[in-house]
Amino acid sequence: MEKKLAYERKNSWLKYSEKETKTVQDYADDYREFLSVSKTERLSVEFVKKMAVKNKFTENSKTKFFIENRSKNIAIVSIGSISPLKGVNFVGSHVDVPRIDLKPSPLYEKENIAHLKTHYYGGIKKYQWLARPLSMYGVIFLRNGKKLDIAIGDKESDPVFSINDLLPHLSSSQNSKTVRDAFEGEKLNIIVGSIPLKKTEKDAVKANALKIINDMYGIEEEDFISAEIEMVPQGNARDVGFDRGLIGGYGHDDRVCGYTSATAIFEAKNKKTACAILFDKEEVGSHGSTGAQSKFIEDIIIEILKKVGEKPSYENIRTVMRNSDLLSSDVSCGIDPDFQDVHEQQNGAKMGFGVVITKYTGSAGKHGANDANAEFVFKIRDIFNKAGVAWQIAELGRVDAGGGGTIAAYLADHGINVIDCGPALLGMHSPFEIVSKADLYETYKAYRAFFEA
Ligand code: MN
Ligand code: MN
Repeated sequence: MEKKLAYERKNSWLKYSEKETKTVQDYADDYREFLSVSKTERLSVEFVKKMAVKNKFTENSKTKFFIENRSKNIAIVSIGSISPLKGVNFVGSHVDVPRIDLKPSPLYEKENIAHLKTHYYGGIKKYQWLARPLSMYGVIFLRNGKKLDIAIGDKESDPVFSINDLLPHLSSSQNSKTVRDAFEGEKLNIIVGSIPLKKTEKDAVKANALKIINDMYGIEEEDFISAEIEMVPQGNARDVGFDRGLIGGYGHDDRVCGYTSATAIFEAKNKKTACAILFDKEEVGSHGSTGAQSKFIEDIIIEILKKVGEKPSYENIRTVMRNSDLLSSDVSCGIDPDFQDVHEQQNGAKMGFGVVITKYTGSAGKHGANDANAEFVFKIRDIFNKAGVAWQIAELGRVDAGGGGTIAAYLADHGINVIDCGPALLGMHSPFEIVSKADLYETYKAYRAFFEA
C-alpha cells in the first residue's frame, strides 16, 4: 500500500474525465426532474415506486420487491445470495421536508382578502417563506369519502398563492425586533382570494373562494379537516452558476438521499441483502407510524425473512438487526462562504469534495447523537476507498454553534451499526437549497458501493 502521511481532501471535479463529467451532468438532469415534481413525501414515494417498477421491482417478487407504508414510506429490497440472517445493508433517508401546512380549519376573510391559516412543519426561517409564489399540494377526503389529490401552482396555467410581507416603509417597529420575534407563526397566512361573491352580506370573498373550490373540486369547508395540505415553494429545481455545477431547489434535504439510494439499489449487484428505506416525519422528530421511530423496520425484516423462507421469529429478527449495517443517509451542511464563523474549517464539509461521512450529530456535547464506533467508521471508509468514492469527514458546524439530529440514533437503538452519510448543502431548510452535482453523484456511488459490499 502506498504511504499517505497527511489526510487530504480534493475537489471531485478535478478528478473527472470529460466522459465522467458528462455522466455526472446526466445523472443530475434526472435528479433535477425528480426534485421538481416530487414536492411532498407522498409524491416522492409515488415517484420512487414508479422507478422501482421500471427497474423490475414488484410488490410480489421474491427477490426484488418494495414495501409501502401508508403512502409515506417505501422500502426497496434486493435479496442477495447470502442469507439475510448474516445482516442487511440498509440505507435510510427521509422524504418529508420543512414546509407550511394548512391548519385543520384554515379559511377566513380579513379586509376583503380570503386567507388560509397555517402551522409550519419542521425548522424554517419564517421570513424566507414570505413574498414568494407558493404551490399547494396534498390530499383531501370529501364528506362522501372521495379522496382528492391537490396540486395547484406548478402548471403554467395555474394560479399560485402567497404570504404577504410588510413593506419596508412601515417596518420601523419590526426592524428593531430580533428575527425570532419579528416574524410570527400566526402571521404566515396564505392569500387565496380577493373577489367577493355578489349578493352576499358577510365574508363575501370567503364565500366566493368556497364557491370556486366547490365548483372545481366538490370541496366543502368541513372537508379541510380531513386533509393534509402542504404549501411549498413554487417552481422547478434549476442549475445554478455559469458552469452548472450546482442544483438549487426545494427539498434536497432529504429527497437527494431518497433518490440516490433508490437509483443505487436499482443498479447494485449485491451479495448481501440490500434495502433502501424512505422515511417520513424526520423533520418533526421521527415519531408516528411513518417515522423512523416506528416499527416499520421490523415489518421490513419480517417480510425479508418470509421471502427467503426463514421464520420471522423474534430471535431471527434480532439476529438480522444485530448483523446489519445502516447508512443514515441525510444531508450535511457545506461551509458557507459568508458565514464561516459557524464552521470549523478542518472538520466542515466542502461543497464538491464528495459525500460526507458524519460520525456524530447532536448538540451541546453530542447530546442526542448516534456516535458511530471506530470499527464501523473504518468499515465504511474502507468500502468507499476501495470503490473510488470521493468522500470527506465532517461535523455539522462549530462546537456549540447549534446542532441537529437525524434518524441515525433511532435505528442504532435496534442494535444496528449506523453512521450518517450524505451530500452537503448550502442553505439547508430554505425554499432554495443548493447541492453540488459532483456530491450528488458521489453519494449515489457511495450508496451503491455500500450495497455491494
Ligand atoms: Mn432537515
Ligand atoms: Mn435531513
